[in-house]
Amino acid sequence: MPLEIVTIPCRSDNYAFLIRDDASGRTALVDAPEAAALDAALRERGWGLDELWITHHHGDHVEGTEALRRAYGCSVTGAAADAHRLPALDRRVGDGDTFGFAGNEVRVMDVSGHTVGHVAYYIPAAKAVFTADSLMALGCGRVFEGTLPQMWESLSKLAALPPETVVHSGHEYTEANARFAATIEPGNPDLISRTEAIAAARAAGKPTVPSILSDELATNPFLRAGTPEVKALLGMSEATDAEVFAEIRSRKDRF
Ligand code: ZN
Ligand code: FE
Repeated sequence: MPLEIVTIPCRSDNYAFLIRDDASGRTALVDAPEAAALDAALRERGWGLDELWITHHHGDHVEGTEALRRAYGCSVTGAAADAHRLPALDRRVGDGDTFGFAGNEVRVMDVSGHTVGHVAYYIPAAKAVFTADSLMALGCGRVFEGTLPQMWESLSKLAALPPETVVHSGHEYTEANARFAATIEPGNPDLISRTEAIAAARAAGKPTVPSILSDELATNPFLRAGTPEVKALLGMSEATDAEVFAEIRSRKDRF
């Protein structure tokens, strides 16, 4: 039976994700932005909570951890590199590690840049990756702790996953990201049609997360930094991919 993945809006614009295996009755959660919304989502479905997988140390991704641990007795997984600033971890993981969840392999990817020690969780059998504030819908996280080349490397690893992979990112920033993307590639027809779909989804009160990696590859200006089209548009045809990424990221910081 395939895993069921449910997007749970939290706080003002965060997303957390419940991952459920009905056959075994096991439930995992990616990030705990707050306890109340997640507790309500679990109760509504009559689900317990066995595991919490943390992506990075920011408060808007961990604040609900202790309340959920107390209420559900879930184990907590997070980056070994960040153990000193994460809630107490039952399982410490790093790049390339794998663990099992309800018979599925979960792969840990270091995607440092937004923070150093930010990890993504990839479940190949579910064609799902949980990227939080690394790769986002039409965007990427601001580079607070890592370097721009490091963020480019992290995005490149995610971009190399199968194109049908579903990208579960941590925030509803997509409309603003679309406005910025249009300043980089105003004539990209895929971007124009995706922007219309995003506006329609938001007008209907629907989330724009998760998204499909193939759509990100076609429209996300940060993933497209290495393309000849984007390099030409920025007058950077001779620049390296990482240099073009750095230019786009710094433009977004000022946008
Ligand atoms: Zn963050
Ligand atoms: Fe965040």
